[in-house]
Amino acid sequence: MFDSLSDRLGGVFDRLKGRGSLNESDVRAAMREVRIALLEADVALPVAREFVDGVTEQAVGQQVLKSVTPGQQVVKIVNDALVAMLGANASELHVDGTPPNVVMMVGLQGSGKTTTTAKIAKRLTEKGRKKVLMASLDVNRPAAQEQLAVLGTQTDVATLPIVQGQQPTDIAKRALQAAKLQGFDVVMLDTAGRLHVDQQLMDEMKAVSDATIPEEILLVVDALTGQDAVNVAKSFTEQVPLTGTVLTRMDGDARGGAALSMRAVTGTPIKFVGVGEKLDALEEFHPERVAGRILGMGDVVSLVERAAETVEKDEAEAFAKKMAKGQFDMNDLRTQLAQMQRMGGLGALAGMLPGMKKAQAAMANSGMDDKVLVHMDAIIGSMTKKERAKPALLNAKRKRRVAMGSGQTVQDVNKLLKMHKEMSTAMKRIKKMGGIKGLMKMFG
Ligand code: GDP
Repeated sequence: MFDSLSDRLGGVFDRLKGRGSLNESDVRAAMREVRIALLEADVALPVAREFVDGVTEQAVGQQVLKSVTPGQQVVKIVNDALVAMLGANASELHVDGTPPNVVMMVGLQGSGKTTTTAKIAKRLTEKGRKKVLMASLDVNRPAAQEQLAVLGTQTDVATLPIVQGQQPTDIAKRALQAAKLQGFDVVMLDTAGRLHVDQQLMDEMKAVSDATIPEEILLVVDALTGQDAVNVAKSFTEQVPLTGTVLTRMDGDARGGAALSMRAVTGTPIKFVGVGEKLDALEEFHPERVAGRILGMGDVVSLVERAAETVEKDEAEAFAKKMAKGQFDMNDLRTQLAQMQRMGGLGALAGMLPGMKKAQAAMANSGMDDKVLVHMDAIIGSMTKKERAKPALLNAKRKRRVAMGSGQTVQDVNKLLKMHKEMSTAMKRIKKMGGIKGLMKMFG
């Protein structure tokens, strides 16, 4: 279903991949094309915009790895952003609480709600070894309750006996009661649909949800409806506390936009996708696999991952050697700052080393956040080569120059110097303990 999007992106990246170097305008031009490709695939506009902005920012500011081309690195960034957009991890249904666990299915008429209810019930029975009871709350559409009863027979899943004239909330309560008495683990409530979102429907959903406190409220949407699916999802999200979505008809030739937008629009993961009319045509949703299928560049992605690991290893080894000698200059501090930024962590390194508590406190006191890391990097960038190797050279005059050059204050420069001093003292202490080997021993 992602074929045309896949082709479009493939074209963009093929042009980037071959290049030995990329400048900012190359990246921006490529991202404009990515944006158009996403919009053509029916991805919601704000979602496409956010995606492209995030990727651009990362691609422009990234550290260049040695053994891969910048174009390949961009492919990896786009891959990661796609995975994030799709929801990072596959997410299971939460049906392991004190029974009966209620799974409420909501969505428009014709979205595949009843079929999906039966598919999930079948799956929970067979794979999850749960005892499942299904109940249809659809009192509007004649034969809706019978349809579920038929599916129950086909899948060997129990359905709540039909009582004519009963209202949705009462049916739901009866289902819960029956489940408690008969020892069912899971109750699946197939609620009524409508052709369009309307307030009466939403009120009914809220009443059922209040009466049964579901573990899961799953929105079923038809992937073929593209932008409409996104709008439906938005309306439901505003009114009902959804826990996830199920996209049906992913076996059709949908352009994929619904799948790509759903997570961002609902704030909840896609839990399953329907891939056919048969009752076992239901799959778990794996963001990584889907991203891989869209980009079709798994080889490039793993190449870049390996390169990044190698660089980190090289840096760590070089650093370890210096530490063993008790050396720690501004260049090392800079490397550490960059690494901390990558690890997203305040004092990540400091916290891991003994005797670093003071340095860590100094960092915390300086109100260190990501921006501070960037400022510190700028300060070191304004030092001369000699000053970096021997920070003691920095007298008042030099400090003023460095502060001016980096757009920071002399006070900031002093803070950085203090932090460096704390860290280098800690390094010397480590040396006394017998260097890296001593450290290793300490950690067992
Ligand atoms: P409801 O009105 O939302 O309950 O929709 P139904 O469950 O009755 O489904 C409507 C039609 O869509 C039925 O013919 C189903 O067989 C079909 N359907 C449901 N899910 C899928 C799917 O994932 N793929 C395909 N191809 N058809 C589906």
